[in-house]
Amino acid sequence: MNNFTYCLPESPLDAANRKISDPHAQFIAGGTNLVDRLKVFLDQPSQLIDISQLDLRTIEKLPDQSLRLGALVTNSAVAQNEEIRRHYPMLARAILSGASQQIRNMATVGGNLLQRTRCPYYYDTAFPCNKRQPATGCPAIEGINRNHAILGHSDQCVAVHPSDMCVALAALDAVVEVVSPKGQRQIPFSDFHRLPGNTPHKDSNLEPGELITALIIPHESKNQSGVYLKIRDRASYSFALVSVAAAVNLQGDKIEGVRLALGGVAHKPWRAIEAEEFLLGKSVEDNILKEAAQIALREAQPLPQNHFKVELAKKAIGRALKVSAQGGGVV
Ligand code: SF4
Repeated sequence: MNNFTYCLPESPLDAANRKISDPHAQFIAGGTNLVDRLKVFLDQPSQLIDISQLDLRTIEKLPDQSLRLGALVTNSAVAQNEEIRRHYPMLARAILSGASQQIRNMATVGGNLLQRTRCPYYYDTAFPCNKRQPATGCPAIEGINRNHAILGHSDQCVAVHPSDMCVALAALDAVVEVVSPKGQRQIPFSDFHRLPGNTPHKDSNLEPGELITALIIPHESKNQSGVYLKIRDRASYSFALVSVAAAVNLQGDKIEGVRLALGGVAHKPWRAIEAEEFLLGKSVEDNILKEAAQIALREAQPLPQNHFKVELAKKAIGRALKVSAQGGGVV
């Protein structure tokens, strides 16, 4: 760990101003990913701006009945919130499928969005890595890539986003609220994270100095039958090989609304919009769900060691949609 200075800002705007005046400073809240990175010199900030004491820990209902989650609400608090458990169960289940109870007690909503990939080459400084240092290479492309991307990757980076929570947030059309010295703005969740392209070192579309202050979950996203299915190598404390957030609304026996997002397959949570459009107005039949899964994966480009993820994702999509259509619960 390198030497750095430390400060406690008085407000979100004060934090953002401090970041602007010191471009090598970093925000810290729960620290559940950043401290690991500091210990192996991946991140070497000049200053840590500790935002953990800011007044951003409230879950509130907005006048239009949407939910606003302060950026410092812990993952545990979100998963235990009665409104979320009842009306956005896919989000509670996604959070509870990730990390450990101890980590969820420390990790914050804002930090969850900004955690970095767990690609082992990224963390091992004996290897080059375009995400860690642009234009040095990507050893994962010809190396060990079983856990890497099958969708949206580039010849610069094939890493996947590690979050479970973010997969549910993508399906729920969440909105990210940020503040900077320029003012406040809201970023649709689908525009928040980036695909690697030629800039794999950038994970998000945050501008310099912007601080996440809250997440807004729209009232229209409510669905008591929403599910989260996570498939991984071991039953707990493991990242997804493939995960699916799905929510189906039925009108009679026809699908009148559907939300579908995948995790463990791309550099960002992957919303399957074309598959959703295909499903509208259809019945919940095995052949229909199978075709929707084909559509969701038709642009998949698996790497040498992860062809299995394509079929796994298709099966997981079919199962998650079916369970949601049957009323939800444990998948
Ligand atoms: Fe680095 Fe991305 Fe390649 Fe992993 S996949 S080694 S994070 S460039």
